[in-house]
Amino acid sequence: MSLSLRDVGVTIDDHEIISGIALAVAAGEWTTVIGPNGAGKTTILRSVLGLVAAEGSLEWDGTSLANLPARARARHIAYVPQDPTRPPGMSVRAYVLLGRTPHLGPLARESSADLAIVDEVISALAIEEFADRDIATLSGGEAQRAVIARALAQQPRLLVMDEPTSALDLAAQLDVMETIDQVRKDHGIGVLSSTHDLTLAARFVDVVHLVARGRIVEAGPPSEVLTAEIIATHYGADVQVLTDPTGGIIVAPRRSPRRSP
Ligand code: ADP
Ligand code: MG
Repeated sequence: MSLSLRDVGVTIDDHEIISGIALAVAAGEWTTVIGPNGAGKTTILRSVLGLVAAEGSLEWDGTSLANLPARARARHIAYVPQDPTRPPGMSVRAYVLLGRTPHLGPLARESSADLAIVDEVISALAIEEFADRDIATLSGGEAQRAVIARALAQQPRLLVMDEPTSALDLAAQLDVMETIDQVRKDHGIGVLSSTHDLTLAARFVDVVHLVARGRIVEAGPPSEVLTAEIIATHYGADVQVLTDPTGGIIVAPRRSPRRSP
């Protein structure tokens, strides 16, 4: 199972938002897009979900995504948007069960197998303690886990996540990244995410695509893309790229770009 984008473009109102996008995500692989605000990261993810009209070649397992009915696409690809709507009055358990929708039979009733999958995912993400709470009452970190649980209940082959850690505190960020890492390794799920956290990305992902003004300008393993020079060029930020004792990469801002001469 793999995703392959070649020469993908999105134009809205004669305005070219992204163009010439090429990337691939294989089973069990984690690819992230990074880049300044407004670069086109969300648009790339939305094009994969079919939420925005795109030109070019978007293939899932060698088949054009455009030819895949929405329900089939939803069985293969799950999306965790940056600001998911949390329907008030819905329990976390009921919300996670929504992830089973693409798999339900013609009567649209969930089976005991669906409920078992929901229980399994709730346990895997350690959200049992608030499984019966109203989803609208959860904290940001708790809600993010619930949204990821819903995506995993979908049993997708590809998980698309837009800035999954941007609303979370340090401990929750690490926790969510480790959970995704474990799930992709255990189940061979491909992950396509976007992020602003370059240090966290460096620690977990296989491939980084740097997007600037709607185009991929750099792509490769974190150690090749996350250099001070490349970041300075495309983010306009002065950073230090350090190596921690375990060989991990730390991207640390050195000076506010606004104060640079
Ligand atoms: P990122 O996620 O990297 O911050 P986006 O993909 O959200 O960037 O947006 C890229 C650019 O496209 C931005 O300038 C944004 O304002 C513009 N854009 C995105 N969606 C639309 C839309 N539906 N109509 C007009 N402009 C859009
Ligand atoms: Mg975005």
